[in-house]
Amino acid sequence: MTRYISTRNTADVLSGHEAVIAGLAKDGGLYTPESIDVTIRPEEILNDSYQECAVKIIHALLDDYTEEEIRECAIGAYDEKFDTDAIVPLRGIRSGWLMELWHGPTSAFKDIALTILPRLLTCAYQKENRNDIVSILTATSGDTGKAALSGFADVPHTAITVFYPEIGVSPIQKKQMATSKGDNVEVIAVKGNFDDCQRMVKEAVSSKEVLDACKGVTISSANSINVGRLVPQIVYYYYSYGELVSHDIIRCGEPVNFIVPTGNFGDILAGYLAKRIGLPINKLICASNSNNVLTDFLETGHYSLDREFITTMSPSMDILISSNLERLLFMLSGNNDVKISAMMDSLKQKGSYRIDDVMLQKLKETFKGYWTSEEQCAATIHDLFVEQNTLIDPHTAVGVSAMERYQKETGDFTPAIVLSTASPYKFCKDVYFSITGERLDDDFEAMDALEKLSGVKVPANLAELKNLEVRFTRSIEKEDGLHAIAERMKGLSDAQN
Ligand SMILES: *Cc1c(COP(=O)(O)O)cnc(C)c1O
Repeated sequence: MTRYISTRNTADVLSGHEAVIAGLAKDGGLYTPESIDVTIRPEEILNDSYQECAVKIIHALLDDYTEEEIRECAIGAYDEKFDTDAIVPLRGIRSGWLMELWHGPTSAFKDIALTILPRLLTCAYQKENRNDIVSILTATSGDTGKAALSGFADVPHTAITVFYPEIGVSPIQKKQMATSKGDNVEVIAVKGNFDDCQRMVKEAVSSKEVLDACKGVTISSANSINVGRLVPQIVYYYYSYGELVSHDIIRCGEPVNFIVPTGNFGDILAGYLAKRIGLPINKLICASNSNNVLTDFLETGHYSLDREFITTMSPSMDILISSNLERLLFMLSGNNDVKISAMMDSLKQKGSYRIDDVMLQKLKETFKGYWTSEEQCAATIHDLFVEQNTLIDPHTAVGVSAMERYQKETGDFTPAIVLSTASPYKFCKDVYFSITGERLDDDFEAMDALEKLSGVKVPANLAELKNLEVRFTRSIEKEDGLHAIAERMKGLSDAQN
């Protein structure tokens, strides 16, 4: 059985479904596979549907669920909620492929994991015969919030609260969240940035005020710190590889490179896990925007928060503290919880830490970082549209730009797949401006204009947004976060008892 241990205390051991319920470990650590014993050869998933591929991969790592349980979750998650049977279609561009991860119910790549997480969680609850409420606390830089709200809306035994930075998410993202449906959902704007939101959620699990209010309520997380999100993200690395094989682009067993627009390091970590369980991945390119803390870290081994937080047109990557990096460092250190705790402590106290040269060399074997300025990002959106008739969003553009520079610099033309993480229609104004040089004031005006210009249809969930009623308008100071959480827990407790 794959056991999950906390990155800060290896004596804290859970099974897969227990880790899905727990989310974050009590000590602030992240549950991580103790060892990777399974191998899935790419031959095993060739010609599989996305759902079948998902069953094999997810069951391999969450092996305390039965295969039937995982199948039920996968089939329930990856259905007509997605607007294409392929679930994650590939699209060729001049220098590689785009893996389109945004065909789900909220047009964000987060949908891939957040359509299945509530099912994995509900199933875990049944396995435990529990009937208390799981309260999902989620910090979002934009896309996780809506995908989680959509995934958990009216799911029995769950409630969800989403915190988002008041300034930082795009107007479309904000409207998506504020109009969420469901009796068990709550959305709160925070006067701070994503890191402030993430800190609140992380601190809640050890806050006395919050825990005292939690009678009959268990706190969990829908952020990528939950293994129930991480594991489903491994699937599309395999699936897209299988697609390249079935289209005779590569022979089975040949290596590929993946380029991953990165924020919290969850997506790219899933790529690393794919490599560890047997997918022939050569390089994982970590693509950042101007918040280039990871680019520097992958070069120097020094992680430093001593920099300005920059608001960009790829807001889901406006992050300085990339949580899932902790998991990677834990694995590369040979599960050294003492070392990881010291590093994370140093990050909290001094705003920085440094890894040793051995670890840095190991990192560099697989990872390479690039960052893209706002100007480069806009130019990439423009060029892809004008020269290759392909409409991409700013996050994807950061990935494409990284790929092009990597190929030019290294001459490594291993078939490359860029993870395309959001629909261009979530960032209409910026995409329209990048292509035409014209600034429109209103997002919905830009949506219409972009559709006319490109001939690409607006996804239904975004097209209908304009006329939906706003349900949530609450906004709080970042200092009041824990109190707001405690209040919510009390409300849930009272409603239950
Ligand atoms: C979340 C997100 C990312 C970053 O993914 P991480 O797993 O946080 O690294 C990139 N692009 C978009 C559009 C996202 O929503």
